[in-house]
Amino acid sequence: MRTKLKYFLPLLFINNLFGFDLLIDTGHTPKKNGATSSTCIKEYEYNKSLTYSILDILKDENSLNITLSSKNESQEISFEQRYESSKNKDLFFSIHHDSVQEQFIKYNEKPCPQTDYAKGFSIFVSKKNVDFEKSLIYAKIFAQELINSGLTPSLHHNENIKGENRELVDEKLGIYYFDNLKVLRNANSPAILFEAGVIVNPEDEKFVQTKEFKNIVANALKRLKD
Ligand SMILES: [Zn+2]
Repeated sequence: MRTKLKYFLPLLFINNLFGFDLLIDTGHTPKKNGATSSTCIKEYEYNKSLTYSILDILKDENSLNITLSSKNESQEISFEQRYESSKNKDLFFSIHHDSVQEQFIKYNEKPCPQTDYAKGFSIFVSKKNVDFEKSLIYAKIFAQELINSGLTPSLHHNENIKGENRELVDEKLGIYYFDNLKVLRNANSPAILFEAGVIVNPEDEKFVQTKEFKNIVANALKRLKD
């Protein structure tokens, strides 16, 4: 038993020494800014806010090396630059905020798009990713951590309607296959795309802005290095 331990200790040490290289990819750009929320805020603003909150919350985690795909908040980053930045990373983690199909949206008095049709997080993985197996392992750990912290997945991408029809990998964890999703298919590392919440839903839009929510997401990411 003692000889075996001696043999494995250096390997563990090497792992801890280099840490976990997490690339956070902030979905969309200042000009191509994604979905519009129930208060008419653009998705890119929420993607940025969650990105920088995670950076701040995890800044003292020595064994977690976080880098961003964008050089700065105003960069009109291309898809190629996103793929390039994922080289030699342990995980490409793309942050988005979700919407629903147009037929489920009503316009409120502002007028901004609004629904109570769906709420909660979704996670996408691609079988065409360079390392699908690892992508799925990370997606499962991350989703389970979110659920343990009280979040619930949304299953609306599974519905048999135009624009959805995504096959669920795991209904309990809110993980879907999205094989042709560009960033997942072309990333140079394991990759997952996280739809943090449904921002056309006023309740979800409020929740994704809370410190509580951002802490839950950051702490779930922290568990990936274990
Ligand atoms: Zn998006």
